Amino acid sequence: MSTGIRVTADAGRCVVSSLCVYRAPAVFDQDDDGHVTLLDPRPPVEHHEAVWRAARGCPTRAIQVEFEPS
Ligand code: SF4
Repeated sequence: MSTGIRVTADAGRCVVSSLCVYRAPAVFDQDDDGHVTLLDPRPPVEHHEAVWRAARGCPTRAIQVEFEPS
């Protein structure tokens, strides 16, 4: 059994820095106001590193990542 990740992003805490979209464009996007939206809450393994980088780099910690069995 491999381990997947589950991503959540709190648009209410997002300050529209766009860093997550820059770091993981396959997983994060922005709505018309620039707030974060999720394209893929369970991204495949090739995007995991970018997601962790995006979560660590978010200035307001609006992005949460959890491990989950897949
Ligand atoms: S990195 Fe954080 S603050 Fe910046 S757009 Fe993404 S969720 Fe919003």
